[in-house]
Amino acid sequence: MTSDFIPPVRQDLVGVAPYGAPQDEGLVCLNVNENPFPLPSEVVDALADATRRVARDLNRYPDRDAIALRTRLAGYLATESGVLVDPTCMWAANGSNEVMHHILLAFGGPGRTAVTFPPSYSMYPEYARDTFTRLISVPRAPDFRIDLPRAEHEIADRRPVVTLVASPNNPTGTGISLDDLASLARVSRGVSGILVVDEAYAEFRHRGVPSALELLGDFPNVIVTRTMSKAFGFAGARLGYAAAGHPGIAEALRVVRLPYHLSAITQAVACAALDHASVLQAQVDLIRSERDRLDTALRTAGYDVAPSEANFLMFGRFADTVGVWQSIRDRGILIRQVGPEGWLRVSVGTPDENDRFLSTLHEVDETRRERS
Ligand SMILES: *Cc1c(COP(=O)(O)O)cnc(C)c1O
Repeated sequence: MTSDFIPPVRQDLVGVAPYGAPQDEGLVCLNVNENPFPLPSEVVDALADATRRVARDLNRYPDRDAIALRTRLAGYLATESGVLVDPTCMWAANGSNEVMHHILLAFGGPGRTAVTFPPSYSMYPEYARDTFTRLISVPRAPDFRIDLPRAEHEIADRRPVVTLVASPNNPTGTGISLDDLASLARVSRGVSGILVVDEAYAEFRHRGVPSALELLGDFPNVIVTRTMSKAFGFAGARLGYAAAGHPGIAEALRVVRLPYHLSAITQAVACAALDHASVLQAQVDLIRSERDRLDTALRTAGYDVAPSEANFLMFGRFADTVGVWQSIRDRGILIRQVGPEGWLRVSVGTPDENDRFLSTLHEVDETRRERS
């Protein structure tokens, strides 16, 4: 009965695989850059209380504009980065992926252009595809920094409405300096474009490294996106947000969001988690020091490691990345095959998980060396 029906999928989506990393039960998961620690029990209690408080009113639609949450998020950024952002310049959605989708919906579109700097986040091309925005790739330099003269030239020449930079970058971990970001913001402004700095991993940056939030005062055309999925250990709750240099940006995003896109439960638990940001900060400190420990251990063992400001490391280089990835997986640890040829990416886990990863990698390499 169903056999002669072919769903009328958009021509450009026919045969396209959906985004997604493997979700394997029972393995040590070091593949999607989550915070490896469960939420502390005092935070769990606060989330349960917050959920209970809103449960009675779930017959009503939530606050469409998430005012309380956007105000809390601005307060968090003030503490975290020392930058004051007016709540009217804040935006929030179900993950920073949705925030960026909103940005491309509002500012991209047919006849418009966006620029990215690969190797970078694999979702950027998908936002462009979904919104019929033309995407131009400006490859990074061999050390994974942005090739600034080339980037400035391309922006001036192609006049993108949106320039998307992840800093720290995924999958390489590379941080882009504030000076370089300011240069990109300046040329973008010259062509009436927006610079989006995706700071999904900002909380893991080394001490003394500034956030791109510092550009907001000078550049109304900058948007900094953040997420609670990584440092906050809140990936399952789905809360991403943005701070913009101009309130007109948040106004434009309001136009394209679906009605009541953030559930009352999401808003309530996110507010409760933000109230406990300082408790969660202890986990971030441990993850940062584990990142640096893993980095040293990998370098000492003779691997190339891309300098990382994030909670993951890209390391290599391997002649057979698929084989190494599979052998590690066979021993119960899931890492990620992503990025340039010859490299693999591992997320920073708990100290035990990191030890297990290091000894497994060592074992896999020994075995492979004996065989060859
Ligand atoms: C993980 C990640 C995000 C955040 O995704 P959420 O939708 O907030 O969970 C955004 N950008 C990059 C580069 C990431 O790696």
